[in-house]
Amino acid sequence: MKVLITGAGQDSSLTTYLHLVRGDQVYVLTRRRADGLTDQMRKVIEVLNESPVFIYADLTEYENVFDIVRELKPDMIYHYGAMSFVPYSYNNPIYTAQVNELSAYAILEAVRKHSPETKVFLPASSEVFGKPVEYPQRLSTPLAPVSPYAISKVALLYIADYYRKVWKLKVYDFITFNHESELRGEEFVTMKIVKNLVKKGHVVLGNIEARKDWGYAGEYVKIFNRVMEKEEPKRYILCTGVIASVKDFLRYVVSKVGGTYEIDESLYRPVDAEGMTCDVTEVPVKPQYMWWDVADIMIRYVRDGALTFTEVLGKV
Ligand code: GDP
Repeated sequence: MKVLITGAGQDSSLTTYLHLVRGDQVYVLTRRRADGLTDQMRKVIEVLNESPVFIYADLTEYENVFDIVRELKPDMIYHYGAMSFVPYSYNNPIYTAQVNELSAYAILEAVRKHSPETKVFLPASSEVFGKPVEYPQRLSTPLAPVSPYAISKVALLYIADYYRKVWKLKVYDFITFNHESELRGEEFVTMKIVKNLVKKGHVVLGNIEARKDWGYAGEYVKIFNRVMEKEEPKRYILCTGVIASVKDFLRYVVSKVGGTYEIDESLYRPVDAEGMTCDVTEVPVKPQYMWWDVADIMIRYVRDGALTFTEVLGKV
């Protein structure tokens, strides 16, 4: 099978691992970075002693993106590549729309015209619910985005609907709640807490009352793949169904590794999407890993370098 993955962050790297372990041909479309590969991709290549084929292109070079899809005609595309940091999107709304939203058109237009059998995965986010009007959130919960990032993810949901309904393309879009792993970058609060407490014994945080639903990304990418292989193309929702505050996560990590924290109000967001969890009766596969398991996985990695995704996604 031929698989095209955009982006080189956490989910892209875990999905690269999943397909390489199975012996698939994996192409990764990512920007060329001055410092080489992302830490996540580097780790995957090191563990497998094998590399995907890298195609260097910026997602906003829409013609290039279109041409790559037209030439490759992959069996599956995972379009993870995105500007995925919510606070950055407040001051960069146009860039956020260009990267996150318009690139999806480039990919889907190429699929529509040149490779209509290709299955396409589009990741949305629980951020589409903003300050949710119901709890837990469901597929029927009104969309109420409160950041340019969230607006771009709402657009992806409608883009997916459009290509499925009008052009009968096999598009799978997932409203996915927070999912973390040992490959998470430190700009996200979970890894920020774990790394700072393990390495420095102290962490400075923003709004720790925000409540989220954190799953394990290793398990989530496996679920994305399983659904694309076995289920019909439509909109899905994925969460653990267990909610916790940043403070709960922090206290749990402190109980395991010790350390102290302080609050810096300049880290608060203008509006925080929070109170996020979904109705687990609607998820296609029930996750087994809960937020405390995710914290343990991250602690083991930061302290001892121990990997969990290799266990979950299959050994070499
Ligand atoms: P997001 O939900 O995808 O934006 O993931 P993050 O990990 O960036 O943020 C999760 C929650 O943690 C948000 O509600 C933030 O407001 C909250 N938070 C509190 N302190 C911090 C911090 O220092 N950094 C980040 N990134 N988030 C923080």
